[in-house]
Amino acid sequence: MQKKCKHCSSNLKKVLDLPSIPLANSFEKSAKKKYKLSLGICVKCKLFQQIHIPSKKDIFNLDYPYLTSKSQKNKIFFNKLKEKISLKKNQFIIDIGCNDGTFLKNFENKKYKHLGIDPSRIATNLAKKRGVKVYNDFFDLNSAKKILQKHGKADVIFSSNTLAHVENINQVLKGISLLLNQNGALYVQNIYLYDLIEKVYFDQIYHEHIFTYSIESLNNIFQKYGLYLSKVEFNDIQGGSFLAKFTKINKRKKTILNIIDREQKKSMLLKKNQFQFKNSINKKLKLFKNLINKKLKKNLIISGYGASAKCVMMINLLKLNTSHIKFIVDNTPKKQNKYIPGTDIPIISPKKFINKKSDICIIFTWNYAKEIINKTKKKVNWIILK
Ligand SMILES: [Zn+2]
Repeated sequence: MQKKCKHCSSNLKKVLDLPSIPLANSFEKSAKKKYKLSLGICVKCKLFQQIHIPSKKDIFNLDYPYLTSKSQKNKIFFNKLKEKISLKKNQFIIDIGCNDGTFLKNFENKKYKHLGIDPSRIATNLAKKRGVKVYNDFFDLNSAKKILQKHGKADVIFSSNTLAHVENINQVLKGISLLLNQNGALYVQNIYLYDLIEKVYFDQIYHEHIFTYSIESLNNIFQKYGLYLSKVEFNDIQGGSFLAKFTKINKRKKTILNIIDREQKKSMLLKKNQFQFKNSINKKLKLFKNLINKKLKKNLIISGYGASAKCVMMINLLKLNTSHIKFIVDNTPKKQNKYIPGTDIPIISPKKFINKKSDICIIFTWNYAKEIINKTKKKVNWIILK
């Protein structure tokens, strides 16, 4: 149990306690171990973080099955981002947590220099096959030193859905600061804390998300390493999420200060009504459970789509099993023919789904709902569980 902040070692104030659930990436049937789940906020730097952190070995499987390229929405987002970043000829870009190289593939030509780093073997092997240069490793100060020695400083560093997962955030930020050119830019894409709270997206609070950032906490933490917020854009690529740009030049931007000001007011409200968030979660859970039970009473066959961490979280909190949901469809081969952690619900491929009986299909990966509905050629009634 963590009593101190992972960034600044100040005291943590507990804000949320949820039932214990299994780890989201343990798809073997035998994986029934459950881990405590509670969230705290640092009284000083305001970083939201898990209070119970499973070991790095448990939490990150080297055969991590998630692949960025499986989503068309990601591809489109990364393509647009390429324009925004406007890397110049011969400049060097690094992607931390590059997964299968979906983003870096946009820079894989003679015009630019690129490098990705990711601990997942499956993903980095795939990236290599696509011609993307990658290191199969965790990113920290040590690997940053190695990259610096061999490749020099980067003009752009990009990191999507990664800084929420790294336990030693200080080592990572030291590494980034060391590698980034004085005139360079760092782009960070992640889930946004206040969207999670206000829209009650509690299915994003799983163990693998060690940190959930607000703009205030980003500002407090990153500036200690000489990385200053210069722009923030909010998007829905991971549900409620943000894209933040940092530079090494400190120009206090009014727009950023305004966002922080708004967050501080919301944070005061949260402190006052701590139990309201828990109540909102329970209310939403009850609503979802009633909806499912109503359909079952009509003898309808229910399936699900997307064996993501969100799905694992939701299914375990709703205490669902095969008497409720017959199977979950997922397009990641490593998850197929396995089970939703903590349950007996099997995972099948989209191909098998075509011939399976199902009246209703619940989309658990709601941020990809449109894409899933568009590409599935099967007559089924969709429910988006959001
Ligand atoms: Zn702190």
